[in-house]
Amino acid sequence: MTNSPIKEDFLHFLWRTKKIADSHFETADGRSVDIQDYGVYNVDSGPDFFNARIRIDNTDWAGNIEMHVFSSDWTKHKHDDDNAYSNVILHVVYENDRDIKYLRNEFFIPTIELKGKIPKSYLNHYLMLMQSKTSIPCQGLIKSVDRAKINLWKYSLTAERLYQKSELVDAVFKATTSDWEETIYIMMARYFGAKVNAEPFERLAKSLPLSIINKNRDKLHVLEALYFGQAGMLEANYSDDYYIRLKKEYRYHQKKHNLKPIEAVSWKFSKLRPVNFPTVRIAQFAALVHRITHLFTSVKEAENTTEIMDLLKVTAGTYWTNHFRFDVESKSAKKVTGTDFINILIINAVAPVLYHYGKVNNDEEYTDKAIQLLESVAAEKNKITREWSSLDVSCSSAFDSQALIHLYHHYCHEFRCLQCKIGHEIMNVK
Ligand code: SF4
Repeated sequence: MTNSPIKEDFLHFLWRTKKIADSHFETADGRSVDIQDYGVYNVDSGPDFFNARIRIDNTDWAGNIEMHVFSSDWTKHKHDDDNAYSNVILHVVYENDRDIKYLRNEFFIPTIELKGKIPKSYLNHYLMLMQSKTSIPCQGLIKSVDRAKINLWKYSLTAERLYQKSELVDAVFKATTSDWEETIYIMMARYFGAKVNAEPFERLAKSLPLSIINKNRDKLHVLEALYFGQAGMLEANYSDDYYIRLKKEYRYHQKKHNLKPIEAVSWKFSKLRPVNFPTVRIAQFAALVHRITHLFTSVKEAENTTEIMDLLKVTAGTYWTNHFRFDVESKSAKKVTGTDFINILIINAVAPVLYHYGKVNNDEEYTDKAIQLLESVAAEKNKITREWSSLDVSCSSAFDSQALIHLYHHYCHEFRCLQCKIGHEIMNVK
């Protein structure tokens, strides 16, 4: 047996979409086979198609169909010893490299070969997709796909994306013993850290639960002392008054709440623009927590996206107007959370938490609200969205960009073209 560029899922695709024009075949041992019903596709364990009906010579058969690239895969996949395959009435293979017998009665399993029977256009498109070396394998053919169909596909992709993110929210939700305020607090912290500092930022929020924060929420300098102290950033010996004051405040609360800071080395500054330094983001996070007592309730009750954007627009404390890091003065500029950054918080924290809230409570108002939020926020601009734009696939909101980022990572990158609606359209191109 040699390797084949054909994979089993291609055979499943051809069979379930009835792409093989002829329903008349001949078995390896010369019997005539007519397919009356191709059966029901089974994505779980067991044979690939259930309840098929076929006629072999003059006898009608009803049962299951199993498909393989090579007939010898039957033995390789250990179907001989598996009762789930005892009702297989037809073995459909790309290449019949070995005759296979039923173990129970020593008869040959009726086997038909698809090699040479697959219409050329399907085979060529399939091979082109699977053997592509480009990051979006269909890039040479996607222009022929109706944009309305791509737009429709985006709905499923965005829903899948939100569903996937809501699983991350669910893990946090369960760890907070089902507290929505604590959940959004931790999710928000994670995305205040953006990609590079997400992990230490999440640990920072977890090390300062709302039970501690709520007692100190009205004093910004105490919140700053708690966050910077727990971030491990108050261990140096700077002579800066602000720094000394925070350090003193932190020592008091550290003792009172028995706090253990995370390691300062967890934070990354390199390759970041100064406005994205974790010091600036921590100061802004403290300002957000100081300003909004019930963040989850506030976003849940917000009438529109502008209201949510206003909630998330915060300015770091005055010390940070002249600093990006402790003890190093810089040009004066207020450190306000910008629109692009707020969009990231909405896309990754607010929308997934609202979506998960809707799911948990079976309340479509909030799953819809999450989707509407994405529709009203600007699309992310990155390498992936630029690549889609170069193929004339529109990306006009975060709803689009989330769909296309999901498509790129979870379909294109994994060559799941046969599970992709664009792939289906491409297979039909003559
Ligand atoms: S998964 Fe879909 S969009 Fe991606 S390359 Fe394949 S057909 Fe194209």
